[in-house]
Amino acid sequence: MTTTEPTSALRGLDAVKDDLAALYRDLHAHPELSFEEHRTAAEIARRATSYGYEVTPGVGRTGVVAVLDNGEGPTVLLRADFDALPVTERTGLPYASRTEGVMHACGHDMHVTCLLGALKLLADARADWSGRILGVFQPAEETAQGARAMVDDGFYERFGTPDVVLGQHVAPLPAGMIGAHPGPAFAATDALRVRMFGKGAHGSRPEASIDPVVMAASTVMRLQTIVSREIAGGETAVVTVGSLRAGTKDNIIPDEAELQINIRTYTPEVRTRVLAAVERIVKGEAITAGAEREPEITEIDAFPVLDNDAAAVERTVAALGAVIGADRIIDPGPVTGSEDVGYFATSAERRIPLCYWLFGGVDPAEVAAAQKAGTFERDIPSNHSPFFAPLVGPTLDTGVTALTTAALAWLGGPPSR
Ligand SMILES: [Zn+2]
Ligand SMILES: [Zn+2]
Repeated sequence: MTTTEPTSALRGLDAVKDDLAALYRDLHAHPELSFEEHRTAAEIARRATSYGYEVTPGVGRTGVVAVLDNGEGPTVLLRADFDALPVTERTGLPYASRTEGVMHACGHDMHVTCLLGALKLLADARADWSGRILGVFQPAEETAQGARAMVDDGFYERFGTPDVVLGQHVAPLPAGMIGAHPGPAFAATDALRVRMFGKGAHGSRPEASIDPVVMAASTVMRLQTIVSREIAGGETAVVTVGSLRAGTKDNIIPDEAELQINIRTYTPEVRTRVLAAVERIVKGEAITAGAEREPEITEIDAFPVLDNDAAAVERTVAALGAVIGADRIIDPGPVTGSEDVGYFATSAERRIPLCYWLFGGVDPAEVAAAQKAGTFERDIPSNHSPFFAPLVGPTLDTGVTALTTAALAWLGGPPSR
């Protein structure tokens, strides 16, 4: 194994920090929803080109791929997602979103900035390594469509099959900390839409109706027994009914109700079991209510489980530890969030090792105080919160350092000239 000391590449960080912080604030002020990230994609393409990368825009609709060929050696894929969320920002920051109802509440603006920073450092230090870098800027992660769209757009045929897939997500950990978990690290998600059909009537004449409101309410309660009564104590699953809608007015019994259900699991066995239980309960409650039409269950979207390769995590974490300190790397265990980065590892002809880690963005003193008071969940805004606001400087430092170091742990040594 030939690896390169990351030190010389990282020496360039100080010189680009201010520029990266300005880029981050600009991206944060201009969030764009999934597959509408045209402004962001243009800025990425402009910068990566100026760093010396060969840039292909429009991959999987709005995705951007930046390639740097630097002689014989491994191909390393570095991935950042770049879509925002339909959230109204409430941080009050001077660089808060200028687009009403849209916010970078998941920190994907930080991912883009860190990857551009790493691409710049790696390009400037190209005398120190050999191989090929694929900088992958992915759209539409929040809707679980972007990675698949890029793969379906001929990603491997056009850009080659990487030897490793690396990426990171900013998280409510103390700034400077990194979290990496081998094996299933992010949950699989199944999002379902359920339509339950009753029979409408005047609100004063329930005997003439089949009431879908009661049917749906009963279904919600029964769905909450899946995890508690059907999944073993040592297994994990989450079943959330995030939306329940029916009716228009107090004195009208409607003829239909709609539920949206979000399911998180880590193993195929538990996933199959939960999905079967949802279907059984939904159908069973409709029968119990006397519904004349069977409910409709359709998929809204689905994320596969993110399965970190144990050896890839070990190798990457060893390199990160040597640079930022082993005491700053933790194993946070599996998280119930989902991520579609795994598509880049599982969709090629052979399975590609994947290492995807978390990096912290919160003032360590704030985290310590909240943990001491037992108010972490209340006081520290997490991803998707309208208050989510990573500290710019320290978060960027860690994110750029981690990506650059991880890439060098997989690229070849200095090219023989
Ligand atoms: Zn998100
Ligand atoms: Zn995210």
